[in-house]
Amino acid sequence: MTGGERNVWSGCGVNCPTWRYLWLLWVRFSPLDSVAAFAASQEGARMDLAIRSAIQDGIGNLEVAEPIKWHRRGQVVSANVALRNTLGCRLSLVIRVPVPCPFQAVILVRDHGTHPNNAVRLCVRGRHVNRRSDRRHWLPGTHLHIWTPEYGDSHAVDPRPPWPPDGWHEDADSATETEILALVRTFCQMLHIAFDPATMWVAPDLKPQPIVLPDGDEIP
Ligand SMILES: [Zn+2]
Repeated sequence: MTGGERNVWSGCGVNCPTWRYLWLLWVRFSPLDSVAAFAASQEGARMDLAIRSAIQDGIGNLEVAEPIKWHRRGQVVSANVALRNTLGCRLSLVIRVPVPCPFQAVILVRDHGTHPNNAVRLCVRGRHVNRRSDRRHWLPGTHLHIWTPEYGDSHAVDPRPPWPPDGWHEDADSATETEILALVRTFCQMLHIAFDPATMWVAPDLKPQPIVLPDGDEIP
């Protein structure tokens, strides 16, 4: 600025009491924080979407990182093991086997990212209707839930190759420990998850537990 020019703002900079007052009002009541939070959530959602797409496409060098450890709660035996990966995300493989009907296991990849959710979920011989999307149904039938931004993990499709496992019977009403292992192996192959049963597989205990009555008696 040359000496002859006059800056129209020069007489009313941030030191001017009026501007200062307006500035303080803006800082105090502006929605900047909520705008920033919204932008962060959008960024998080985009990141989650990218990670879930990679999981669904079998990208990310997922690998079962620890031996499977089973927990029993009531009539469900379940495991939750870490999945090593190159996506920079905390992922786990979750297996749930209902003891009264082990032929209806559920196997999924859990994304513990900004918005935790199931990226992929296999429901073995489960009942399901795509109520929010194309209304396809499996009543019952093995189906694969694929997380999408529109429908979360409520949308299902047919399982992909190499499904089904060798010797598969969709209408079976029992399952052995060996068949549970075959399910887990096939699920891992479907998503290119490295899984070495020789070092990582431990069979679940599917024996029904006796019900203990308050007086200590057991109903076998
Ligand atoms: Zn389902």
